[in-house]
Amino acid sequence: MQKLQLTLAIIKPHAVKNPVALSYIRHVMKNKFIVIKTKRVSLDTESASRFYKEHVGKFFYKRLITFMASGYIDLHVMGHSNAIQLWRQMLGPTSVYKAQFQDPNSLRSLFGISDTRNVAHGSDSPSSAEREIKFFFPEFSFYEWHNNEEPLYR
Ligand code: ADP
Ligand code: MG
Repeated sequence: MQKLQLTLAIIKPHAVKNPVALSYIRHVMKNKFIVIKTKRVSLDTESASRFYKEHVGKFFYKRLITFMASGYIDLHVMGHSNAIQLWRQMLGPTSVYKAQFQDPNSLRSLFGISDTRNVAHGSDSPSSAEREIKFFFPEFSFYEWHNNEEPLYR
């Protein structure tokens, strides 16, 4: 029996504005994951700062916050037995330059335009996935998804 692991994907503002990127991303996402919740929001800089608080003090922090608050973002709670690793693998390396060399078919390689505007976010561990999903979907029931002893899918 396989358990469903959850991750949070965030499609960043420049990709939400790019119809080709957006439809491609949605296609690959639906192909691999069960997409449990989806919401389009726009962040103010205060919420973006709270979301990315682990990066306070880094040289790119201010530009990351300004960028993430610059337009709509698409949020997706996605499930798969290996959701966190699989989504980050599909994204490719954080640096778009590296992505283009190391993993040319990754989403960041295909649609990234700078190290900040690198297409999408993916949770990096089960604990960050839980924090991040609660951040955007406070009503979300983890009990339903984590503690169910019946197979949830597949
Ligand atoms: P990831 O999104 O791959 O988990 P990090 O958590 O390290 O990467 O960084 C969060 C986000 O901050 C990145 O997705 C990117 O938008 C931005 N960022 C990270 N490193 C840099 C950098 N060296 N220059 C510019 N922006 C960066
Ligand atoms: Mg990260």
